[in-house]
Amino acid sequence: MTDITENPHVKEERNGTPAGVPDTEASCRAPMTEELLLSAMPELDAEQIWKFTEYYNKLLDWNSRINLTRITEPSEVAAKHFADSVLGAKLLPQGARVIDVGTGAGFPGVPLKIVRPDIELVLVDSLGKRVKFLEELTRSLGIEAVCIHARAEDAARQPGLREAFDAATSRAVAPMNVLLELTTPFVKVGGASLMYKGASAREELEVCGKALRTLGCRAECVDLEAEWGARTIVLARKVSPTPAKFPRKAGTAQKTPL
Ligand code: SAM
Repeated sequence: MTDITENPHVKEERNGTPAGVPDTEASCRAPMTEELLLSAMPELDAEQIWKFTEYYNKLLDWNSRINLTRITEPSEVAAKHFADSVLGAKLLPQGARVIDVGTGAGFPGVPLKIVRPDIELVLVDSLGKRVKFLEELTRSLGIEAVCIHARAEDAARQPGLREAFDAATSRAVAPMNVLLELTTPFVKVGGASLMYKGASAREELEVCGKALRTLGCRAECVDLEAEWGARTIVLARKVSPTPAKFPRKAGTAQKTPL
C-alpha cells in the first residue's frame, strides 16, 4: 500500500514545485459518488456527503487553473485527502479552536470542519491563490472558517493568533523539527500541535528533542488505521509558553532547524 507521504505527487506538492500538468481529464473525469465517500468514511450523513461532493467538484474545477493537488481520481481523493484528513477528528476537544497551518487546498482543516462542525477553524497558507480557493470553497460549502494569507512565522506573531488555539494541525508541510517551530507558537499551554505523518513519524521525532525542549512541548505518537498506508499523528502537547524569540523570522526554521 502507498503511504501518502511517500506518494511522489504529494512530495512534489510539499516541495512547492508546480505540478505542471494541467488537469486535462477534468472535462471527462469520473464523478465523486456517495458509495466512494461512504466506503472511505462510513459515518457520513447526507449533508456531509453533499459537502464532500461539492468539495471534490470545486477542487477539480480550480485544479485545472491553479496547482492544488495531483491526486484527482475520486476514490483516491475520498481516501487520501478526505478520509486521511478526518483521522484526527477524535483527537480534537469539543468546541476546540483549531488552526490549520500550510493548509494548501484545505487539508486536513476543511474535512475536519465538515465532520466536526463544533470546532472553530482558521486556515493559513502562504500562497495567495490557494487562499482565494479556500475563501470560495468555504463560502460555497456554507462552513465558517477564517482564511489567512500569510506565512506561519508572521501569523504566529499577530495578537489573536499567538497562543490562541487548542490545536494546530498540519500535513505535508515540513519536517517535524521545522513544523514544531511553525505550529506550536499558535497553541495555548495545555493544547497540542497535531502533525499528520506517515511511516517516517518516529524517525522524524527522534531528532526533535531540542525543538521539543526549546518550545516547551512533550510529544506522543498516535497510530491510526488507514487502508492507504501507515498513518501516525504526532501530538506535541504544549506544557509551557513559547519563548518570545520563536518562531524566528520567515525561512530561518527551515534553514537552521532547532
Ligand atoms: N496541508 C495540505 C495537504 O496536506 O494537502 C497542503 C500541503 S502542501 C505540500 C504545503 C503547503 O504549505 C503549501 O500550500 C504551502 O504554500 C504551505 N506552506 C509552506 N510553508 C509555509 C509557511 N511557512 N507558512 C504558511 N504556509 C506554508
